[in-house]
Amino acid sequence: MIAQESRSDVVDLRSDTVTLPTETMLARMQCAPLGDDGREGDPTVRELEARGAALTGKEAGLFVPSGTMGNLLAMLAHAERGTDVFADNGAHLLNSELGSVVTIAGLVPKSMPSHRGAMDRAALEQAIRASSRPGLIAMETTHNGAGGAVLPLAHMARIHALGQESSIPVHLDGARLFNASVALGVPAARIAEHTDSVMFCLSKGLSAPVGSLLCGNEAFIARARGFRKLVGGNMRQSGIVAAAGLVALETMIERLSEDHAAAKRLAAALAWLDPALADPDQVQTNILRIDVSGSLHDAAAWAAGMKQHGILVQASGLAQLRLVTHRHIDVSAVDRTIAAFAAVAG
Ligand SMILES: *Cc1c(COP(=O)(O)O)cnc(C)c1O
Repeated sequence: MIAQESRSDVVDLRSDTVTLPTETMLARMQCAPLGDDGREGDPTVRELEARGAALTGKEAGLFVPSGTMGNLLAMLAHAERGTDVFADNGAHLLNSELGSVVTIAGLVPKSMPSHRGAMDRAALEQAIRASSRPGLIAMETTHNGAGGAVLPLAHMARIHALGQESSIPVHLDGARLFNASVALGVPAARIAEHTDSVMFCLSKGLSAPVGSLLCGNEAFIARARGFRKLVGGNMRQSGIVAAAGLVALETMIERLSEDHAAAKRLAAALAWLDPALADPDQVQTNILRIDVSGSLHDAAAWAAGMKQHGILVQASGLAQLRLVTHRHIDVSAVDRTIAAFAAVAG
């Protein structure tokens, strides 16, 4: 048994990936029916893939070890080597996946100007027109770099329409798709309908220990499945971890609103301390990007100071902190964080 108590009383706001599996997940893992996912298939993985496909309104799903691999397989399965991939200039897929877009997928990154994670549509249209080999359009919601911003559905519909007019597939990096779904108050399928494929993570706010799903039509998923083998992503009795993913989808989606409320409360308190730190109106989901450029310390000094109070935050560049709320951040953790900010601010 993994002791949930093994967490110390450190408040870890670096990421929602630090969430531990629930008791229900651990129990389901122990009795999951298993098989060889690289041969005739693992029944628990097949169930999870079907569930993910149904939730996103797609024909088929593919279980992958990570969101990074899901995005990579989408690029490999959608676009030919040497073609252009268009994404917003803050996209995780372009900036935070170690260049796999170029070095493994062989695509040419075209980074688009954007506002709060949303690509400038006119700039995208121009870039597509100027491209001799367009390959893929990628969107991201919620947007990590843009502080958990949710793409408006109307924006997604316009970008998708542009892709369809130009015969370019549209992929969604939906690592936090269900945060967007809860924030918008619509089913995930209403978001994913504006894309040809979608990746979402089970291992972030949904608290599963491992795994992501890539969903799309049958032919696309069949190609992605081939590429998964190529990059070493066949996982054999992966029903062990897929079982936790099933519980994540069954029990952990609705509670994401608690994480969003905690983030809002943090933002409001920080804005009260110093309005330059945070704008509560910009906090839509579970990520806060705190601007410390007007404070006495740089981001690294802030992170070190907070750590002395038992609060872990992530420095991002010289002047920004990233705080992510999740299942282990309760009311008292939020209060301790606010007190630590006040102490470090001096
Ligand atoms: C976390 C994240 C990923 C990658 O997921 P991993 O499971 O960590 O590989 C991709 N895109 C976004 C927007 C993310 O936040």
